[in-house]
Amino acid sequence: MSKKYDYLIVGAGLFGAVFANRAHRAGKSCIVLEKRNHIAGNAYTRLEAGIPIHQYGAHIFHTGNRQVYEYLSQFAQFNHYVNSPIANYKGEIYNLPFNMNTFHQMWGVVTPGQAQNELSRQIEKHYTENPQNLEEQAINLVGPDIYEKLIKGYTEKQWGRPCTQLPSFIIRRLPLRFTYDNNYFNDPYQGIPVDGYTKMVERMLEGIEVRLQTDYFDDRSYWDSLAKRIVYSGPIDAYFHCCYGALQYRSLRFETEVLDCRNYQGNAVVNYTDREIPFTRMIEHKHFTFGQQPNTVITREYSQEWAPGKEPYYPINDSENSALYEKYRLLTEREPNVLFGGRLAEYQYYDMDKTVERALEYTTPELLSIRDKQ
Ligand code: FAD
Ligand code: UDP
Repeated sequence: MSKKYDYLIVGAGLFGAVFANRAHRAGKSCIVLEKRNHIAGNAYTRLEAGIPIHQYGAHIFHTGNRQVYEYLSQFAQFNHYVNSPIANYKGEIYNLPFNMNTFHQMWGVVTPGQAQNELSRQIEKHYTENPQNLEEQAINLVGPDIYEKLIKGYTEKQWGRPCTQLPSFIIRRLPLRFTYDNNYFNDPYQGIPVDGYTKMVERMLEGIEVRLQTDYFDDRSYWDSLAKRIVYSGPIDAYFHCCYGALQYRSLRFETEVLDCRNYQGNAVVNYTDREIPFTRMIEHKHFTFGQQPNTVITREYSQEWAPGKEPYYPINDSENSALYEKYRLLTEREPNVLFGGRLAEYQYYDMDKTVERALEYTTPELLSIRDKQ
């Protein structure tokens, strides 16, 4: 029996949307299912008090991949926002990422040489050969002062575990530099879509059938019967009925408020790095787009344990969960007609650019036509 669609795409996040867009352009028929009531996945933005709100936490686009930037630029104009978050530790303010401004604020040093001397002095005293956890790794990289004030509290709130029980790779993401440069990212392309991520994804999905508030698992066999192939961007364990047990995630809770003032915190992102303040960061959305509105909207971000029914935001790539993921990944090899991609289906900490890059890799004209012949 001939099937109605070439591709059934589960999830209208960036992975699903890029896949759908490229397959549609190559003449394939696609249908996209999305269980939420909107497209764009976690990158979703909506307007409140005239200000674009990042509903699922700050999303700053940055990439070193020109192909990804050019591809997305067909659907969005990126502004010149540069992410320069600040840290508030018990009322003391520090620039991030760790740079000459931070070292000056922390130790009063002025030159890179002075900063390097102070850092080496601190690290030498506390150095651990073969660091086994995040605490040891962080102290080896930045010494105890920065670790205590800017890493420990934030990380333990974010991951809900002591730093001594967390894998060290999480902290390797944090840049360290000896210039007065507060740009959080090293990538050459950075910015926020001028009219929001949702509009960008809407343009990608133009001409493609999208069903919102439709959970693939509510009628799986019906949806499977409609398409030759499935592209799945939901959680990988859910796809296999959690047959080996549930993978762990970190979830988040957002508290959003409209305030009757023009400028509440003077920066888009402020991280609260001590343990006592229960949220990890506060964002003031208008600063992402240099907004001049009379009001402002802020969001406090609280990290929380994931449980069924809560949104799975961050995969926890420790050794136990990575081993479990590997068992599920082996099962995917028995599903030749299903393509698993994106942050949840690959159980990877992908930024948006990496997610787009993966979807572009899966949708080259060669791959789309090879699949047709199989
Ligand atoms: P998602 O965006 O999660 O999309 C998957 C979609 O599938 C969801 O909409 C979901 O509802 C849907 N779905 C799942 N199961 C089903 C089902 N059974 N039926 C139907 N639909 C289903 N990246 C950056 O580059 N810069 C940032 O600043 C940044 N900040 C982030 C902040 C936070 C708090 C988080 C959580 C992520 C951040 N990211 C950032 C990462 C970014 O969100 C991801 O790279 C990107 O959203 C991944 O897209 P995706 O399509 O893989 O997943
Ligand atoms: N981090 C920290 N202090 C900060 C910001 C980040 O210790 O002020 C640590 C924390 O462990 C976090 C990791 O660095 O999980 C990566 O931070 P990033 O902001 O890159 O991650 P995001 O949560 O935005 O994906």
